Amino acid sequence: MSAAPLPLDILRTVFGFPSFRGQQAEIIEHVVGGGDALVLMPTGGGKSLCYQIPALCRPGMGVVVSPLIALMRDQVEALRQLGVRAAALNSALGTGEAGQILRAVRAGEIDLLYVAPERLLLDGTLSLLGESPVALFAIDEAHCVSQWGHDFRPEYLQLAILHERFPAIPRVALTATADAPTRAEIVRQLKLDDGRIFVTSFDRPNIRYHVAAKSKPREQLLRFIKDGHAGEAGIVYCLSRAKVEETAAWLAGHGIGALPYHAGLTASVRAAHQDRFLKDDGVVMVATIAFGMGIDKPDVRFVVHFDMPKSIESYYQETGRAGRDGLPSEALLLYGIEDAAKLRSMIEGGEGDEARKRLEHRKLDALTGFCASARCRRQVLLEYFGETLGEPCGNCDACLYPAETIDGTVAAQKALSSVIRTGQRFGAAHLTDILVGANTERIRQFGHDRLPTYGVGKEFSRDRWRDVFRQLVAHGLLTVDLDGHGGLRLGPKEVVRPVLRGERTVPLREDPLGKAKGASAKADRKRPASASLDRPEDERLFQSLRALRLRLAKEQNVPPYVILHDTALIALAKTRPASLGEMGAIPGLGAAKLERYGKVFLVALSEGEE
Ligand code: ADP
Ligand code: ZN
Repeated sequence: MSAAPLPLDILRTVFGFPSFRGQQAEIIEHVVGGGDALVLMPTGGGKSLCYQIPALCRPGMGVVVSPLIALMRDQVEALRQLGVRAAALNSALGTGEAGQILRAVRAGEIDLLYVAPERLLLDGTLSLLGESPVALFAIDEAHCVSQWGHDFRPEYLQLAILHERFPAIPRVALTATADAPTRAEIVRQLKLDDGRIFVTSFDRPNIRYHVAAKSKPREQLLRFIKDGHAGEAGIVYCLSRAKVEETAAWLAGHGIGALPYHAGLTASVRAAHQDRFLKDDGVVMVATIAFGMGIDKPDVRFVVHFDMPKSIESYYQETGRAGRDGLPSEALLLYGIEDAAKLRSMIEGGEGDEARKRLEHRKLDALTGFCASARCRRQVLLEYFGETLGEPCGNCDACLYPAETIDGTVAAQKALSSVIRTGQRFGAAHLTDILVGANTERIRQFGHDRLPTYGVGKEFSRDRWRDVFRQLVAHGLLTVDLDGHGGLRLGPKEVVRPVLRGERTVPLREDPLGKAKGASAKADRKRPASASLDRPEDERLFQSLRALRLRLAKEQNVPPYVILHDTALIALAKTRPASLGEMGAIPGLGAAKLERYGKVFLVALSEGEE
């Protein structure tokens, strides 16, 4: 028997990468040595190699439990392109196909087998695995065991059986969900007590975070896409199906390749839209949060929250879908008081007991605090997950466009007084009308033009007042009614009174709307994806390589990133290798890909030189 291949050799020859990242080498060594592991790594951190390489090093086949068929299909296709013998067993297969795969397994012709959990748990599958040598079990998206999480899969609870039936085979569980309770639950449910836990920083340095108050949200969105992300793939999250439809149609009407996705569409429309998102370049998916889990597309260049997310956890998970390939990407969150009100009434109207609702309100509080904060976004986010980032990041709106704070005590008193005098039931829009002395029908109807606060706030614009109200909510001086109409009431007495008496000052951020405009103005934006391509001729070459890749992908009906990642195309455009030998140094071009695509890309490169 020949010696077992070394992990680093496999990384270089099969995957075409020169070196391991972060803890990959350590994790792989541990698993190759037969140890169990729990791997916590952010999206895009490089989890897959942590089980794929040990599976190729150890005798037998690697078995990967994965919750989503689309995800499996993508991974299997990507592995086949690398020359790895991979297959997937799931409910989407016909009996003929499934039988073929089972025969290949028995013949020892499969290196990596992806299995849906319900399929794995069938007696037939388990006894097949008992007869064939298994290198390891990988349990992907391991947070699916958590009953509190949004991705709960009951079948995952039964996966402890792997430990009982195959005690000698190493198991590695992987997830990008960070929090401690979920981690403990994975260990308990999967019986991983003897495994090592590998925790990587959850920072995603290539994602630029932007949080902006809603002023004209559609215009903000359009400018964000057109100025910074033209022709790039992205996701725009909305809270409701209706809003998804409207927004997608509106973007399409403005020349953006946008498609809707939500649970109200038929399965076939959803599948078609998802397929276009994966297989075409530069599709913008406008979606409810029904979309995203299991989308492994590495070149999503931006994620927009067009409505507020429910918690920092979901915000982080959703924004994490941007920039898996490590290239510069952006996350934009647009927030408004009305959104918070809507979410609060959804919590109130939702299922769950009082304790659960209180928890959800607290999570939403943390998120609104994040929105209104003037601190480095990344520092706030990482602190929330129990990590500290020593220095401000330099790659978020707070760092790039720092806001001055002013003493806003008098403005706060005027705003609070307008709330008190109108009976604590009106929303920010009407209260703003009172402060600026507007002559609206509603003002006349309620006689609000006779209030002492009528017209006392002319020093600020309407937009500025709207923002002051948002900041007062963030400071806890005002709270939003739970009925969903956005009515504002006073916060707790002990917080509000000192301000009304002038005993406590209220810092307000200077005009963050101006800042938000600045943030998306063309002048201070770089096109993130190809930010590393400074020379226009490299950018042109990158675009023509991208077109070639799309054509190759269409021929095989696979997503373009399965052929080559953007990182590889950028490296090709920059270094312009002139031979297959030189091309071998490009990250992501392993032996199999070099053989398949090397020549075509060489030709394209030489044409691009003209
Ligand atoms: P995750 O599953 O953690 O979200 P992936 O395993 O999909 O992340 O990896 C994310 C990206 O990083 C992929 O494009 C992958 O090819 C790349 N990658 C992973 N490990 C390395 C490495 N050692 N060197 C270069 N690129 C890597
Ligand atoms: Zn920052």
